[in-house]
Amino acid sequence: MTAIQETPKHRKAKALKPGSRRPAKELCSECGLCDTYYVHYVKEACAFINQQIPQLETQTHGRSRNLENDDDLYFGVHQTMIAARKKQPIEGAQWTGIVSSIACEMLTRGIVEGVVCVQNTKEDRFQPMPVIARTPEDILAARVNKPTLSPNLSVLEEIEKSGMKRLLVIGVGCQIQALRAVEKELGLEKLYVLGTPCVDNVTRAGLQKFLETTSKSPETVVHYEFMQDFRVHFKHEDGSIEKVPFFGLNTKELKDIFAPSCLSCFDYVNSLADLVVGYMGAPFGWQWIVVRNETGKEMLDLVSGQLDTQPVHSEGKRQQAVQQSIPAYDKGVTLPMWAAKLMGVVIEKIGPKGLEYARFSIDSHFTRNYLYVKRNHPEKLKAHVPEFAKRIVGQYELPE
Ligand code: FAD
Ligand code: SF4
Repeated sequence: MTAIQETPKHRKAKALKPGSRRPAKELCSECGLCDTYYVHYVKEACAFINQQIPQLETQTHGRSRNLENDDDLYFGVHQTMIAARKKQPIEGAQWTGIVSSIACEMLTRGIVEGVVCVQNTKEDRFQPMPVIARTPEDILAARVNKPTLSPNLSVLEEIEKSGMKRLLVIGVGCQIQALRAVEKELGLEKLYVLGTPCVDNVTRAGLQKFLETTSKSPETVVHYEFMQDFRVHFKHEDGSIEKVPFFGLNTKELKDIFAPSCLSCFDYVNSLADLVVGYMGAPFGWQWIVVRNETGKEMLDLVSGQLDTQPVHSEGKRQQAVQQSIPAYDKGVTLPMWAAKLMGVVIEKIGPKGLEYARFSIDSHFTRNYLYVKRNHPEKLKAHVPEFAKRIVGQYELPE
């Protein structure tokens, strides 16, 4: 007798209409899950409705992070961390293109049949357009950050329908949390997850305000990054780099541009990816790589011959700088440009470097976000803030 195959319940669900209010309300990060029939699982899967990082860490890596180990506490479960850069960087990538290179290798070697990544629309270089890439050209067309909320999971329905069995997803923390929560329902034999850290993301309108408030030539910005030298580096169409010190940013004007989801996020380091590629724990010009599990190691090994590497290091002390920045940010203090530049130079010389810079950035964002949740969603504070973040925030004195 043949068993009757039951249609999974989610296939009967209907994606929410574009523009309709999402279950996470104002905290929605537009991860894309609700644009598919997987909206059926939203109450359990959404990172802003049901924070479950420790459980999903155990599901993915075989254990949750050890809160007594400082590196685990900050950077999540991992086997190793290294600094790396491509010997031949990919032109136009955000950094040296390690993410795009791994994805291309996985596709051309037949390890996966498709790659979820995000290109931009023809009309607007910063308007995200998630795709399932099936050629290296598709992957390369997705290189460089779209510093805007991006509905990467909106293509999930297409994956199940296509019958694809081996998939790589590239994404940021909130997308990956929801993905891990529905992973078993995707009908895949193997899912690979390549994550980047993510912080301070914005809507497309918020991005416009940031560019117009901060850059001298907003319309020619090709990409930007908050760098380890405490400056924002804007790269322009003609290849020139404009540098603006963090301490000179117009915090009063800019405070409300960040998406409420990003002001409530405690998964800066993308805890549930197999492999994370960022920059903040590495020397300037290098990328920072966190290998979380065996799958992540397998992915990194594919490009090891294309990389220069060096061990990660840590230098300086961050705590005082973080503590001082908390009330300054809260009150929206902006320094005059000459003072901001001077402060940037001094901090760059004596300030935290390597992993200590990464901890500086994590501490600054977690304290700010903890205050945001406490003031705007006090009913969520207990369950939404993971224990590791409570410990990190607990090192500092916060205003009411
Ligand atoms: P590339 O080869 O250029 O590939 C970039 C990949 O990112 C592409 O595959 C694309 O699909 C994907 N992508 C682009 N935009 C998005 C998006 N909005 N959502 C999901 N996926 C996207 N690293 C840090 O160490 N500290 C940070 O504070 C930090 N903030 C970040 C904020 C944002 C919004 C993003 C998207 C990334 C951030 N990163 C941060 C990661 C870092 O900027 C680089 O993306 C990473 O080092 C990879 O560089 P690359 O040259 O290897 O990537
Ligand atoms: Fe849905 Fe994602 Fe928004 Fe949560 S964050 S409500 S899962 S689209």
